[in-house]
Amino acid sequence: MTTLALEYFRSAPRFIGARTLGSKAPGLVAGPFAPLRLSSLKDPQPPNGRSGWARVKPLLSGICGSDLTTLAGRSSFYFSPLVSTPFVPGHEVVGELLDGCEDLAAGTRVVLSSVLACAARGEDPVCPNCAAGDVGRCDRVTVGHLKPGLQTGYCTQTGGGWGKMLIAHRSQLHAIPEGMTDRTAVLIEPFACAIHAALRAGIGVDDDVVIVGAGTVGILTLIAVRSFSTPASVTVAAKHEKQRAAARLAGADEVVRPEHAVKAVRRRSSAVKLTPERGQDFLLGGADVAIECVGSRRGLDLALRSVRAGGRVVVSGIPAGGADLTPLWFRELELVGAYTSGTETMPDASRIPTFELAIRAAADLPILEQLVGATYPLERWRDAIDHAMSAGKLGTFKVAFAPQT
Ligand SMILES: [Zn+2]
Repeated sequence: MTTLALEYFRSAPRFIGARTLGSKAPGLVAGPFAPLRLSSLKDPQPPNGRSGWARVKPLLSGICGSDLTTLAGRSSFYFSPLVSTPFVPGHEVVGELLDGCEDLAAGTRVVLSSVLACAARGEDPVCPNCAAGDVGRCDRVTVGHLKPGLQTGYCTQTGGGWGKMLIAHRSQLHAIPEGMTDRTAVLIEPFACAIHAALRAGIGVDDDVVIVGAGTVGILTLIAVRSFSTPASVTVAAKHEKQRAAARLAGADEVVRPEHAVKAVRRRSSAVKLTPERGQDFLLGGADVAIECVGSRRGLDLALRSVRAGGRVVVSGIPAGGADLTPLWFRELELVGAYTSGTETMPDASRIPTFELAIRAAADLPILEQLVGATYPLERWRDAIDHAMSAGKLGTFKVAFAPQT
């Protein structure tokens, strides 16, 4: 049996081509040099016929910034041993179980916690991070009875959300309430990441917070900050007007263009603003916490330059590199990474999987499904990728595939 899917088949010349051509021109990422093709692939099979796996029929699958970075050949070579090619991308998935899986009946609608950690890989004993519930920190994402792949969507064996079928391990599956729409559910994975980032930020009640970026990650992070902490203020810096409008709607106290962000934080915190001979202005004084949600050098520079001495910068977007770390040193900042999700420590010291927090919170957040701006069948993948590449400019947030259409 075969499954129709979009397959990422990076080969060196095409990769270099994408790297050269794709960096500035969105149209070219989905053009003739794209390292992606629509193929009829052999059905993904559970490793060695093991139990605990089920086939999932993706209903909606998001296109994530990290997918676009990969397609454009801009991701760091650091990732190369963490993936196995060719693979079917797609890790933001709502789908339907085609098989019963332990306690979950066939037909159950599920969302996918995409990390392929110890449990999925049959590692026994599991690594110390998995033992603590921090599956995003799993040390075994390249070993066990699965090929390397930090997540579903980067592993050659499992299939991915950008196909008509994938396989997932019970440890990855979360049933969703009947009343939750597919459009809300497809955002549960990125929303869980946003909640994880918001909690990694350790925001105190009197803290002034800056969020850099208001694409899907920035808006979800703002919603998570509002839902899971009570800061004194949240300032959002966003490039595009529709992003600024969405940030206002999602509860930002102040929304500014990136070039005005340092000034806005200075007003709020009575900091001193300085202008270097080159590069962005910076503050002595400033916000308590900044969360970078763009993944650009300028974004990280802005975050580092807006926080007070001893403040915290959370890196939520995949860092593009090249940021000036002088403020990290001079202001004795804390630089905190936030990758995917896992288990969170609540104020009463209980530990709850981030996905559970996301699914519960999403029930009261009608704004989520409004963030899904467009869906495409797999056949129109070039249009979908082009749309996602230009989403900010076009005023779209999440672009997703509807693989069964
Ligand atoms: Zn592990």
